[in-house]
This record gives sequence, structure tokens and C-alpha cells, in this order.
Amino acid sequence: MPRYKNLTTVQEDLSNGLITCEHLVEYYVDRINATKDLNVYIEVFEEEALAQAKALDAKYQNDPASVGKLFGMVISIKDVLCYAGHSVTAGAKILEGFKSLFTATGIERLLAEDAIIIGRVNCDQFAMGSTNENSHYGPTKNGLNPEKIPGGSSGASAVSVQIDTCLVALGTDTGGSVRQPAAFCGILGFKPTYGRVSRYGLLAYGSSFDQIGVLANSIEDIALTLELMAGRDDFDSTSSSKEVPAYSKANFNKKAKIAYFPTAVEHRSLDADVRNQTLNLIKSLRADGHTVEGVDFDYLDYIIPAYYVLTTAEASSNLSRFDGIRYGYRSPNATNLEETYTMSRTEGFSTEVKRRIMLGTFVLSAGYYDAYYGKAQKVRRLISEKTAEIFKDYDFILMPTAPGPAWDIGAVNDDPVAMYLADIFTVQANMAGIPAISIPLGMSDGMPIGVQLMANKFEEGKLLAFSKEFV
Ligand code: GLN
Repeated sequence: MPRYKNLTTVQEDLSNGLITCEHLVEYYVDRINATKDLNVYIEVFEEEALAQAKALDAKYQNDPASVGKLFGMVISIKDVLCYAGHSVTAGAKILEGFKSLFTATGIERLLAEDAIIIGRVNCDQFAMGSTNENSHYGPTKNGLNPEKIPGGSSGASAVSVQIDTCLVALGTDTGGSVRQPAAFCGILGFKPTYGRVSRYGLLAYGSSFDQIGVLANSIEDIALTLELMAGRDDFDSTSSSKEVPAYSKANFNKKAKIAYFPTAVEHRSLDADVRNQTLNLIKSLRADGHTVEGVDFDYLDYIIPAYYVLTTAEASSNLSRFDGIRYGYRSPNATNLEETYTMSRTEGFSTEVKRRIMLGTFVLSAGYYDAYYGKAQKVRRLISEKTAEIFKDYDFILMPTAPGPAWDIGAVNDDPVAMYLADIFTVQANMAGIPAISIPLGMSDGMPIGVQLMANKFEEGKLLAFSKEFV
């Protein structure tokens, strides 16, 4: 079986009779079994995926025109996305044994186009983290070097594509969780505009930030997957009713005007390879006739504090439903109602999740609300407005995806703030609700690094079309 990097070549081989969906699924299951040490999959839907593949092969045999647009696309899903009848745990003990009652709208739409879901992959608990170490199921390892983190929180989604166990992975991005692991694993990661893809069936972390994103090896696969998932959904009132253009057919046939922040790109604390390769890219874009200009943006320092105030506040509210009564795990050690609540939550959540619930409860509490939550909302508004101003003059903002390459597993375990600060470049897109992509840029210290491009709201077509210049 060749290593497929995009759906077009899979579909060519399917139509030439060189492969079948069944062979494809068997191949990916073999790959999953051969890479178990990396701890990528929490659950493999082997029998079901094989049955679905056989049914699709038969359908295709009967009438090649009857299959959907994603015929031959094998997908892994992050363990925060609901798939009816299947377990979903957000990487946490508290959801042990819980099965989804319905399917996330995004997944429903991919299944309707004949995508095959091969399994459920690991992630940081409740999508909180940048390393994938914060999972009840243990850390996922980077496929390029198992001593290194794959990034997070959609780290295993990234590795599942990196090591060829599926063609495309679904992740979620609240502050960079699709783009940063994509960069650390040497693949593409895309976060859409807030509201572009329904959040129905996505276990909420920060509801005003969360979006489902796509990880893949090709822009065309991201464009097609996004185009099919996007659009209004009555089950998510924040989903946009704006028409979904054919992202897979979008073109960008002119010279781009790109902004970058010299304060960020030239910062001394940046990894030297990240800095030099980003600056080299800027040079080569200029040589190709694009305009790339440094722009002042004085708000970078405020992004991380405001993000961690707002998302922890939203998380403390979202996670209050996990009380040991309604879903999943209930402590066997409790002897009365109050103990059931406290012990189930104490035993069911990780330290990091508890830290964030406490922080969120604190910033929302009477007496501190105005000083923290209220102020952070104002900062968010300011950052959105200043970002929108840049797009009046520029098509894109260019930024490294992360300040450096993947670090060693265990390196920042006891320093949460160091981990939070590493999100510095990805969080702006979530604060402003704009689309952003991470594209492989090069290597540093033997590990991949990425460059990030952001565009104005609902300009995913333009962003994806221009990104093709880089890959
Ligand atoms: N690392 C960030 C956080 O821990 C982003 C997580 C995400 O995007 N889900 O909040």
C-alpha cells in the first residue's frame, strides 16, 4: 500500500481498482497496531470501519456515481467529539463509561459523504493543555521522536496523520490546539472562523473560543473536509448562516499583502531556527513579488493573561455538569450526596483541569469579576478590533506557529505558566475569532516547526488558496 497524502490519489486508485476501501482500512489498522507504543488511539473502531468499508466497496461496484465526496477518506476523531453509540471521555476519568447519545454535526456531515471513522484518539483532558501529557490515558508521543511531546491538545490527532494511520484527523482549537500540534508533527492544521463549523457534539471547554479543526497532509483535503462540515446548524445558535463557498475550488491569483509583527518574529526569546526560517520565508515571499510589511501590534503581552482568564471562566461553568451524578464516573468511596460530588470530581479530573476550574471560579466570583473577567473581556474586544484593523490593509498576518519546536516529555510538567506562555502566537486567532492555518516551515533541533497564516473572518477560501504557495 503506498502512503497516501491526499484524497485525490486514494480515489484514483479506488477507481482504477488498485485498492478497495476494505484494503485501505486493513492497512490503517495494521499501522495503528504497529505504532501502539506512541499511545495515539484510545479506541479503534476496527470491525465497524471494516464493515463500513465493505459496504462502500459494494455500493461503488454497483454504481460508482452513488458514493459520496469523501469516498475513501479514513478519519480519526479527537476524544472530545461525540459519535452516537461510541464512548467519549475528553481524555478524562470523569467520563469513563459514558457513551454519546448523538453525533456531532460536523461528523454527521462527513459520514453523509461516506467518510470512514477509524477511531477515537487521545488528547489533553478536556482539551486543556499544549502537550498531550494531561490525559487520563497517559501521554501521546511524537512519531518522529518518542521522547518528544506531539503538542496539544489535539496531539494524538496530529500524530495519527503524521504516522499514516488515517488520511485526515479532526481536532479542536480553543487557543491553538490544532495548529500547534500540526507544527510539532510536521503536518498542516487549520482552525476555521468561530461559528463556521457547528460546535454541536463538541464537549465544551471555552464555548466562545472552541472550533473543530482539520489536520491533514494536503490543503485540498482540508478545504474539502471543511467545506462539507461547515454551515448553519440549528443545534448551535452560534453557527453562522453565511453561505459556505467551495473552499476546494478557491483561487488566490494575485500578489498578497502580508503583515507581520517584528516584535514577535524578531524577539530574542524565540528559538533561533524559528526566527531565521520565518525571516527567510518573509524574504522569499518578497522576492516572489508579495508585499510583506512589519506592523506594530502592542497587545501581544495581554493575549495570554486575557485568554487564560476567559477560558478558565468558561470552563468552570461548562465543566460544572460533570458532577458524578449525570455522566460517567462516580466515586465508589463516597457515602453521602456531598461526598459523591466532591470525591467524584476530585478523583475524576486531573490536576490541570482542577486548577483551571478553580481559577475560572475565582475570576468570576463577586468582588473579583470586574477586575479579572470584565477586564479580560475588554482586552478581547480590543484585540479583535486591532486585528480587524490590520485586515483593512492586509490580506494575511504571518507569524510563527509556536516559539520553538516540540520539547521533551516531562520538561514543563511542573511549570504550567511556561506551558501557557508557549501559546503566545496561536491564541490571537481564537481571541479574534478568525481563521488560521499552520504550515510546515522547516526543522529545528531535529523536530518540525511551522509558520502560521491568519486571515479575516470567513476568508478561509482565500487563506487556503494562498497556503498552496507554501506546500
Ligand atoms: N494550550 C491551550 C490551552 O491549554 C489551547 C488548548 C486548545 O486549543 N484546546 O488552553
